[in-house]
Amino acid sequence: CGIVGYIGKRQAVPVLIDGLKKLEYRGYDSAGIAVLEPEGIRLAKSVGKLAALEERIANKTFDSCIGIGHTRWATHGKPSDQNAHPHLDCKGNFAVVHNGIIENYLELREWLIDRGHSFVSETDTEVLSHLVEEYDGGDLEEAVRKTIARIEGSFAMVVMSRNNPGCLVAARKASPMVVGIGEEEYFIASDIPAILNHTRDTYIMEDGEIVIISDSGIRFTDFKGGHREKIVFQVSWDP
Ligand code: GLU
Repeated sequence: CGIVGYIGKRQAVPVLIDGLKKLEYRGYDSAGIAVLEPEGIRLAKSVGKLAALEERIANKTFDSCIGIGHTRWATHGKPSDQNAHPHLDCKGNFAVVHNGIIENYLELREWLIDRGHSFVSETDTEVLSHLVEEYDGGDLEEAVRKTIARIEGSFAMVVMSRNNPGCLVAARKASPMVVGIGEEEYFIASDIPAILNHTRDTYIMEDGEIVIISDSGIRFTDFKGGHREKIVFQVSWDP
């Protein structure tokens, strides 16, 4: 299971696929990507190996410099196209990838269904995209913070929003995540090998941290929104 994210000036899809390949060693049963195009979020997902996902997108053209990707190791819901990440909210405004387990997802799912949300997968993860939708007041960071306040369990997640086009918000608790710093571009990944093709300058995220990457740069906060000072970790080894 693995997570990748990209925001910068390059086409996102090749960067995401390359990153997911570097995370294959972690094991997975399905894979998917989401990119943000002017018309909205575009998804591609497939059960099986990354080759199956690549085949699915082979004759498609994408035009986007921001996206997220995922390899899934199913814990809740069988391996299937439908259960593969990324997961969306009802309107398709938010896309979420997640590694880990949302332990209280059943009760959250009920609560969200009562509030009019409808679910299309059997995963625990899908509550995340609907919670972000529920808490959306125009500020993605705040919606993610409110979402985190509701969930129990372990997670590394990245959220992308149609309403905040130049922005990725990611968070971690008991699941690894690193951020790579390029020139006017950023990479997010579960593990360092996924970004070493691009940069050796990284921020290693710690439990309880949120990262907000946007046009105005990169910042880290704790789950309550308090500022976190981070130092750059230079990777000196080769994979
Ligand atoms: N619990 C989530 C699911 O089953 C994420 C699994 C993972 O870490 O890949 O979809």
